[in-house]
Amino acid sequence: MDLGIKGRTALVTASSKGLGRGCAEALAAAGVNLVLNARGAEALEATAEAIRSEHGVTVTAIAADITEEAGRAKVLAAAGDVDILVTNAGGPPPGLWSDWSREDFIAALDANMLTPIALMQACLPGMMERGWGRVVNITSQSVKAPIPVLGLSNSARAGLTGFVAGTARQVAEKGVTINNLLPGIHDTDRATGLDTGVSKSEGISMAEARARREASIPAKRYGTPAEFGSACAFLCSAHAGFIVGQNILLDGGATNATI
Ligand code: NAP
Repeated sequence: MDLGIKGRTALVTASSKGLGRGCAEALAAAGVNLVLNARGAEALEATAEAIRSEHGVTVTAIAADITEEAGRAKVLAAAGDVDILVTNAGGPPPGLWSDWSREDFIAALDANMLTPIALMQACLPGMMERGWGRVVNITSQSVKAPIPVLGLSNSARAGLTGFVAGTARQVAEKGVTINNLLPGIHDTDRATGLDTGVSKSEGISMAEARARREASIPAKRYGTPAEFGSACAFLCSAHAGFIVGQNILLDGGATNATI
């Protein structure tokens, strides 16, 4: 299917690896020029080069911490007019509800709520003025069903979800859509990190930790960044203009709910 977005410009933050990279690759395959970001310059440049040579699109790579104001300013200045914004950042660490301090909550809110909000506030006015725009926020299945050890993530992403629910309905008449993609477990460094935690705390091998987690998913496997990216690219496509303010689970059926 032609997604109808060839020649558009997308900013995909936190995109040298994992789900962000999956989204960047799928957009590039649709002919979208990219502005990519991550903190580590080496992996970021390698990803940018791989995408350039495979898809022939323009890829600008900006190494910066997207959760810091100075980092966001650098990325946004390089990006110019953004048609498609995919927000992403690293997730907060696991832990126990009683351990987290005010500083831990502020860091999680900064990364997973206030950063995507600031990026939207920067990009939405231009999209609305030009009469077309797409925003996809990478959040988490924890928005639909809490993951107890990820209380910082549960909290911050709930705040972002509330912001999007109202804002998406304020900008839709200008041809701009905002939606959230909610990943369940996908095969990325983040998933390996979570499995490492289980392996250590339960005294089991990494293979056993993964096998247990896979067994809990109806699809009996982890998702891939490529299939996550394809869903993102469709939400960013010309065909998705009537999908507004939705929270779409990509979790292999892991969230046990009727609606
Ligand atoms: P990942 O494989 O660890 O990749 C994270 C990417 O983000 C890397 O490119 C990393 O590069 C970049 N990044 C991290 N912090 C950044 C920052 N402050 N500024 C700029 N770039 C940053 O993670 P992932 O699995 O793709 O996860 C992406 C998001 O989805 C996370 O918020 C995660 O919590 C959420 N999620 C993931 C899963 C899953 O199963 N994978 C499930 C639910 C939710 P640098 O380290 O070089 O900056």
